[in-house]
Amino acid sequence: MFEKKYDLIVIGSGAGMNVAARARGKDYKVALVEHGTMGGTCLNRGCIPSKIMIYPADVVREIEHAKKLGVNANVSDLDFKLVRKRMMELVLGDRHSMEKGVAEDEGLDYYHETGEFVGKHILKVGEKKITAPKIMIACGVRTRIPNINGLEKTGYLTSETIFDIEDVPESLIILGGGYKACEFAHFFSTFGTKVIIVGHNRKLLPREEPEVSELVKNTLGHYMDIFVNRNSAEVWSKDGVKVVVHEDRDTGDSIESRAEEILITTGVISNAPLLHPEKTDVKVNDKGFIIVNESLETSQPGIWAFGDVLGRTMYRHTANYQSDVAWINAFGEMNVKLDEHAVPHAVFTYPQVAGVGMTLAEAMGSGRPLLVGYSSYDSTAKGYAMADEDSFVKVILDGNTLEILGATVAGPHAAILVQPIVYLMNCGDRTYRPLAASQIIHPALSEVVAAAFGNLHDPRHHHDHEHQH
Ligand SMILES: Cc1cc2nc3c(=O)[nH]c(=O)nc-3n(C[C@H](O)[C@H](O)[C@H](O)COP(=O)(O)OP(=O)(O)OC[C@H]3O[C@@H](n4cnc5c(N)ncnc54)[C@H](O)[C@@H]3O)c2cc1C
Repeated sequence: MFEKKYDLIVIGSGAGMNVAARARGKDYKVALVEHGTMGGTCLNRGCIPSKIMIYPADVVREIEHAKKLGVNANVSDLDFKLVRKRMMELVLGDRHSMEKGVAEDEGLDYYHETGEFVGKHILKVGEKKITAPKIMIACGVRTRIPNINGLEKTGYLTSETIFDIEDVPESLIILGGGYKACEFAHFFSTFGTKVIIVGHNRKLLPREEPEVSELVKNTLGHYMDIFVNRNSAEVWSKDGVKVVVHEDRDTGDSIESRAEEILITTGVISNAPLLHPEKTDVKVNDKGFIIVNESLETSQPGIWAFGDVLGRTMYRHTANYQSDVAWINAFGEMNVKLDEHAVPHAVFTYPQVAGVGMTLAEAMGSGRPLLVGYSSYDSTAKGYAMADEDSFVKVILDGNTLEILGATVAGPHAAILVQPIVYLMNCGDRTYRPLAASQIIHPALSEVVAAAFGNLHDPRHHHDHEHQH
């Protein structure tokens, strides 16, 4: 064993790669430690492959919806092999170009090993020991497998393995009711799989506004069976059929659901324990997520952490933003503090959902006076043109300062519609004044967002939603 010294060690090639690339741009000597596939979760088994699968599903639902507009078309064939081929082309293309870039870079050593601390700033990677004054941990999370009788023996899929399937299953039980469950359910149900969701929480998408959870449950419910508030008690398989016994958490009433496959989306666990953080002074919380200060530095000076392994908001854009914060604090000449007041997210299910900042319940909990604005898509000309009856925008403001505290959009293009609200929340006084001073292209869905801000009321009082084409 020998010790090799670097300027920077990066653990994890997801958002960790951002920092490794920036350090190489400055000609620092870098060690990149990655024991899995190059590119991390987002590229190989997360955001990117899932969204390449989901977009065709959106198109199918749009074709079906078009009947309401007088456009009668039928989808005659769904080519999963082509969807998968397009997905693999992008994933493998990007992965291979990253691998090539890493292999050709003489200032970067790639250790395809599991890294573990053996000293405060010393990592063991295979047979070697490496050290650096600055270390970045971006080692992420993996699927947490629930402890259900018979599950291991029966076998199951996770987000780590599902992108390897070559045909859609004839039927699929999805355990879990969060965003991954709703996204996979949307895709598979559209591509002909009989889907059954079995969620533990009382609500589907429990972190969303209650009306969003309800809308998604009702809409997806047209295409699949959805059970919520369930405990999965037992799993077995017989004659190639997998059976999940699940019971109502209040009444104990039990049901058996059957399918060809089971997909686990019940949560994640931290990869930090693999690093033996106790061998340095990197502290983790009771769930194994790394504890950092506002600068993203861990309790061991010179070691920063970011991304999913912090167990906060687990999105790739969050990990990217945090990698910038960690980079500036580690190598820049200033100190920037983590700002989490406007973290956006989207759920690419049917309907699409997006949000930023607080939910109404969270804003109520802050004790501030509030104003809430609501607008349905079909209250605007474009929404009406799209025959969109259920979709809406909701915004939450501080009633005194008019600072935007949060927003939710449920409906087509939700992720795009919420983004300008994120920008507003990062502008000057964080109010919607720039929107109020702007001309808004007519008739476009942007008008739904503007209408929500034009429709403010005190959430403690009843409000009639107005139509304003
Ligand atoms: C199905 C799915 C869909 C998703 N969709 C979206 C989406 O639409 N939008 C979005 O924003 N987010 C989405 N996410 C979440 C997003 O993928 C993550 O937030 C993001 O990838 C986290 O990046 P990271 O760099 O923190 O971790 P990762 O990308 O997971 O990188 C961590 C890396 O560290 C490696 N590693 C771990 N331990 C060690 C060790 N001891 N030694 C060496 N290497 C180690 C791992 O192999 C891994 O490659 C999705 C996730 C999933 C699973």
